[in-house]
This record gives sequence, structure tokens and C-alpha cells, in this order.
Amino acid sequence: MKPVLVLGHGQLGLMMAAAGARLGLHVDRLDTEAEDLLPGTSFMRLPVTKDSLLETYPVITAEKEHLPDSELVQALRAAPAWTNRQAFVDLADRFHEKQLLDRLEIPTSPWRLLSKPDDVDPARLALGERVVIKVTRGGYDGRGQWRLPEDDPDQLPDDRYGAMIAEAFVGFDREVSLVGVRNRRGETRYLPLAENVHHDGILRYSIAGEEVNPFMQRQAEALLGRIMEDLDYVGVMAMECFDVDGKLLVNELAPRVHNSGHWSQLGTEHDQFALHLRALLDLPLPETEYFRPTLMLNLIGCDFDPAWLSVPEIQCHWYGKEPRPGRKLGHININAVSMAEFRDVCTRLRKFLDNEHQRMLDEALAHYKRDAGGRKRRD
Ligand code: AMP
Repeated sequence: MKPVLVLGHGQLGLMMAAAGARLGLHVDRLDTEAEDLLPGTSFMRLPVTKDSLLETYPVITAEKEHLPDSELVQALRAAPAWTNRQAFVDLADRFHEKQLLDRLEIPTSPWRLLSKPDDVDPARLALGERVVIKVTRGGYDGRGQWRLPEDDPDQLPDDRYGAMIAEAFVGFDREVSLVGVRNRRGETRYLPLAENVHHDGILRYSIAGEEVNPFMQRQAEALLGRIMEDLDYVGVMAMECFDVDGKLLVNELAPRVHNSGHWSQLGTEHDQFALHLRALLDLPLPETEYFRPTLMLNLIGCDFDPAWLSVPEIQCHWYGKEPRPGRKLGHININAVSMAEFRDVCTRLRKFLDNEHQRMLDEALAHYKRDAGGRKRRD
């Protein structure tokens, strides 16, 4: 099987390499800044050259949209091995992404480009008093975002005009996301919608695999299917949406595996990482029949606690990163055959979590009310 190179050496590439290892595939990661190769799931670093990479890897993918503009990355992205050339141009920049959504008539929050400070007032006039301002490149986990009227417009960075958009504030009922996969023949598969809860712009937990409204699932699949087809996309793409009274507005697209799809590591037979690799390598896309309702709790800004592992029912993923406030450092997946068992697992885990994560777990548990048994994909 062809070896795969992942541009980026964060947790997404790490979990892709782990999924690859389970399938007997060869997946290595590239630290695109230091230009070192990290083989498989190892943290060992090997020096590489552009030519050796181009020779060794007939398939190149990425775990993040924002890659350095170095000579090495440029050469890798110019190679035929690089998939999704257009998607990475369109989706790495919110301005292009919004233009794409408008062109495909995909519902999204109305928006305006802010080219200069004088554009802010007319944008508010057009979009409404409450707007969210976002940098078009590089903002994530709530960074590079401002809200008016809460924030002072004078705080907006002068040097980002031309690379900021204003978007109408959406009073959504909830946030959901869809993970879809498409292969070179244009075949698609979708996981069930996940419900995502953010605090301060950071995803705290997702719940997925539950009985979802079939109308909403079909709506989401139709939107993401249209986008993937337009971009002739190959692999996993994630679509984050606002649910407003049963109607979906697309907030953001990610041309890659995504945090809101991590639940699939425990809740499905074929997780998002395996699906991505299968599509890239032209392996058949499996029909996933059963989903187990699963809670994914992000571990943010805390130290690793081996006590978590004393709760054998949970699936813990730790990314091996330096702890920093607000940084995603790992996640825990939990599911169970009954609600009583689920509650019991959460109670045992809870005492090993700090106050903030206990609060998130309590909140998630209140959300996760429905029958925890496996369900068939479609009626
Ligand atoms: P984003 O970086 O676009 O994913 O935004 C991070 C989070 O900010 C989202 O998950 C929402 O919770 C919130 N958010 C972003 N855009 C809007 C909007 N137009 N209206 C309301 N909330 C928003």
C-alpha cells in the first residue's frame, strides 16, 4: 500500500498515523516548521530533504489548513501526490470560504469584507447591530474574533483590515457538525451529526451517534455533498453548522479530520481517520451500519492524570503536548450500553477531573439523556 505523508505533526496527524497502523498502512508526519519527519506515531525526528519526501510518498495530505509558505511546503503542494489543491485554497481563508458558500447557495450567516475601519458601521447597518468579526486566516479556538457591540471597534487590529470579515450574529439553538468522506469516484459516506458545545470559542464536548432528526441529517448531507462535489474533494471534510429552528447555516468547513469527529473513534467501527485514509488510498468506503451514542470531552489546559486510566471503560487520547491554558491537550470518549452504566462511568471519572472539566462533564451528562444503545443508521 502507498505510504502517506501528513503535513503537520499535531494530534490529528498522530491519530491518523495510529488509525493507519491499525489498518496496516504506512503513515508518517512532517513537522512543517522544523522540517523533520516523525515516523508513524513516534515522536522521534528524522532529517529529510524535499527530494526524498517527493520520492517516498505518493500520497500527501494535511492535518491543518495553515501551512508555512516555505520552499519545502510549496514543492510538496505542487506535487501530484498532494490531494485537494482547490479545497485548501478555498477553505484556508474565510473570505474564499464565504464566497464559495454563496456561489453554491449554501445557507450561511450574511457577511461583509472589512477593508478599512470605515467599513465597520456600514457592515453593522447591513448585517444588524450584533456582529462577529473574524480574521480571514489563522484564527481558531475563538482567537482572532471580536463581537460588537460587546467589544470596542477601536480594538480591531489595524493591520488586519482587508483580511477580516464581519458576520451577522446568529442566535442559534445549537451547534452541530457533519463529517463526510468522498472518494475519487465521487462516492460519499456520512457520520451522524454531532452536537457541539463551545465555551469561549473552544469546543468543550461533542455528543454524537444519537438518534438524529432524519430531516436535519439529510439536509446536512446534501449541503456537504454539494461542497465536496464542487471541489472534487477526496477524503474527510467536516462542516460546522448553526441549527436555527431546524434550518442549518454553515459556519465553517475544514478540509480535514476534525475535533468534532473524534467521538467516532469509539462510536463507530470506522472512525474519521480510517475513512480519510481509505478515501486517499482508493480503498472501498465502508457502509457504517451501527453507531453508539458517544460523548467526547476535550481535555483543555490541564495536566495528564494517570488516574483517568483507572476508569477502564473510557477511551483516553493524550496528544503529548506541553500544557498551556486554553490548549487542547487530549480528549476522552465515553459510551456505554445503558444510561445507568454511562452515569456510573462518568461518576467514577469525575473525581479525577479539575473543577472546569467536572462542570463540562456535568453539563454534557445532562445533555446525554437519550437511550445509549447502538442504533441502525437509517430507517
Ligand atoms: P468559528 O471560529 O467560526 O468556528 O467560531 C467559534 C465559535 O464562535 C462558534 O463555534 C460559535 O460558537 C461562535 N460563533 C462564530 N460565529 C458566530 C456567529 N456568526 N454568530 C454567533 N456565534 C458565532
